[in-house]
Amino acid sequence: EYIIQNNKLLPKKDAMIHFDDRGYYFGDGIYEVVKVYEGQPFAMDLHLNRLVQSSSKLDIKLPYSKEQIQEYITTLIEKNSVQTGLVYFQVTRGVEPRNHLYSRESTPVFTAFTQPAHNTEDIQKNGIDVWLTDDIRWLRCDIKTINLLGNVMVKREAADNNCQEAILHRNGTITEGSSSNLFLIKDKVLYTHPATNLILNGITRQLVIELAQKHNYSVVEEAFPVEVLEHADEAFISSSSVEITPIKAVYGQLTTTFPIGPVTQDLQTKFKELLPKA
Ligand code: PLP
Repeated sequence: EYIIQNNKLLPKKDAMIHFDDRGYYFGDGIYEVVKVYEGQPFAMDLHLNRLVQSSSKLDIKLPYSKEQIQEYITTLIEKNSVQTGLVYFQVTRGVEPRNHLYSRESTPVFTAFTQPAHNTEDIQKNGIDVWLTDDIRWLRCDIKTINLLGNVMVKREAADNNCQEAILHRNGTITEGSSSNLFLIKDKVLYTHPATNLILNGITRQLVIELAQKHNYSVVEEAFPVEVLEHADEAFISSSSVEITPIKAVYGQLTTTFPIGPVTQDLQTKFKELLPKA
């Protein structure tokens, strides 16, 4: 199994991270996760654009051009013979003696690896249970940073309550999932939180909105309170790894159930048509 470290393809066992990497001390870095279908990374240009946005928001210089990164990722996928899977890549600010204040002198560190994708067939068909809890994260959730403690804590809380995802609210307003975006459907209209600083603007979210509009569904990007969950016809989460996955029940601060509804199923079918074919 190979990984990429900076501009080198290495066997994973030969890779070494520097003790003073700011990613390790501060979670000072950014990342992307891309799904691979038929040996091809899906929506790579959108992920690369978001990486560029995250880097500029955090004042981290990207060490390579988008084209170079794309090339490294393609090589890695080939070298690891990935047909279906996930590719993870990150950039940390680099190596410096520990200090909150960064210098702008350090050289960013690029790493990438591949891993098997979760089997999503069952959850996409039958749905998941979600845990409604407080959004305890910071106010720059629009940045795809590797500093994910808030997300990690609520994911554990959800799992400890036999739920597969945490759905978050900030003072009663639904934001998103711990590693996904949330959509509600009422009378064939899709509702989701607007792409502000309070959510990560998911690539899958963007593709779902575009796809829905193309097929004449209305999409409302507005913040809504938790109580709206009780009035929705259908609900689903979206992310690169789980695509469109229906929610069958909500537990925690509110309890409600949803059918695996026709709009969700229609969008699932149409989304599959976007994916790379053999
Ligand atoms: N929101 C959060 C907090 C995430 O971590 C993720 C992905 O991991 C998403 C949304 C979905 O983003 P994407 O569709 O780009 O995978």
